Amino acid sequence: MSNEYTNNSFERGSRISHSYIINDEEVKQYLNNCEIPVEAEDVELNDALKHDIIYPEENTIEFIVAVDGESTTIPVKKTFPSSLITFFQFGSLLIKSADLDEMEMKPFVSPSDIKKLKEIKREKFVLPTKNVALKKDIDFRTTVREAIHEFFKKTHSGKTSILATLYWFIFEQYNPTSTKNNYKLSQCPHCGTNNIVLEKDKIDFKNYSWRCTHDKCNKEILITDVFRLFEKVDKFENADASGIITYLESVTESFFIIHTIKSLLEIQDGLVNRFLFVKDGPLSFGGETANMHKPMQALLTYLNKNNKINLIGVETSGAFVDHARQIKDKLNPGQVFLLNNEHIYTYIQVGNHKEQQYGSTSYYSGKFIYKSFDERVYVLTLPVENHITYYNQPEITDLKNIEEVLMNVDKLRCDIYENALIPVAVANKLISLTNHPSSNILERFAKKNMGR
Ligand SMILES: [Zn+2]
Repeated sequence: MSNEYTNNSFERGSRISHSYIINDEEVKQYLNNCEIPVEAEDVELNDALKHDIIYPEENTIEFIVAVDGESTTIPVKKTFPSSLITFFQFGSLLIKSADLDEMEMKPFVSPSDIKKLKEIKREKFVLPTKNVALKKDIDFRTTVREAIHEFFKKTHSGKTSILATLYWFIFEQYNPTSTKNNYKLSQCPHCGTNNIVLEKDKIDFKNYSWRCTHDKCNKEILITDVFRLFEKVDKFENADASGIITYLESVTESFFIIHTIKSLLEIQDGLVNRFLFVKDGPLSFGGETANMHKPMQALLTYLNKNNKINLIGVETSGAFVDHARQIKDKLNPGQVFLLNNEHIYTYIQVGNHKEQQYGSTSYYSGKFIYKSFDERVYVLTLPVENHITYYNQPEITDLKNIEEVLMNVDKLRCDIYENALIPVAVANKLISLTNHPSSNILERFAKKNMGR
């Protein structure tokens, strides 16, 4: 095998057991019938998708905001039936680009350097995950919905709640000429009636909610129900919300960014242009929340007419990151490789979806691999105006302001973790729950607050 890119002992260890399995006859036979990604030397990079990056002479990005989230699920009752709750922490870091220039000369990031990276705020949130009822006579689905809604009442970096940002976002309030006055919800979380029309003007601003339009139901529909996470949570049987944790984490991170964008637009015209927003993971909405990619596309398209929205997604694990390491030597330093449908379905997501458009139901961005001038590889996404046709024939000009954004990504490089960026690594460290002295403290907190 030619996995020369792995260089830490953990990965080396797993590689040894890996080759042992490959030598097993039965496994070999099984693999013969499977389509698996090819070896590095067999990957062909289409030269038309390679582009040399030239950093601009001037840097107009003065600040960087990086958002990261983490969750830990713990038992509150270990005996059967087990009860679980999940602690979430989200953080935004505000970094001055000039501080990074100072840090650039040093081999390691010191604690005093980290102090220069200011946290906007850390937000904590508890989600009942399994067999937990917070109030009597309320079904589990409602308990989960209300917990999420309650969390979105926070103001975080702004003066208004994130719920207000969600309203602004889905009804295109940022655009004075928008005619968007209703939003079609997939189904009512109570009675299941399909295509409930949520009218912009009929919202009850007290709780950012509506009443179900079905006469016999008339129950409360929350604005956060547009994330559709409730569809994954049963009302009574299998009271279990563990299937929504990842999507909730990702959608919350996205909304922390959208919320900060809104706040900046309100503070001063043009201020947002001086910022770069960094999201952990790709710029997309996964699972049940996928529909959010449409209003996101609308927001970015509108704002880009008058402003410059610098927003980038950084992937730190997964098949694309593995592939990027695999083809590292096929790119020159300072080169990007734009990923198209053909490349993705031939080498990364092998299978029978060659007819499909990559990410057409969840992405609002174009994905590419970047090999920086100091030879680190990153899997990145930048917003594109038409994500559906983008993956047929990606063009470098589709990726707005890519050269300046990459110049700043390069400044964020982190020497502590391989191919990690400072905000992601530091945010991970700052908000890490698993590194907490003891998860017992959390457990006790949970029990105390739930009267167990
Ligand atoms: Zn209903």
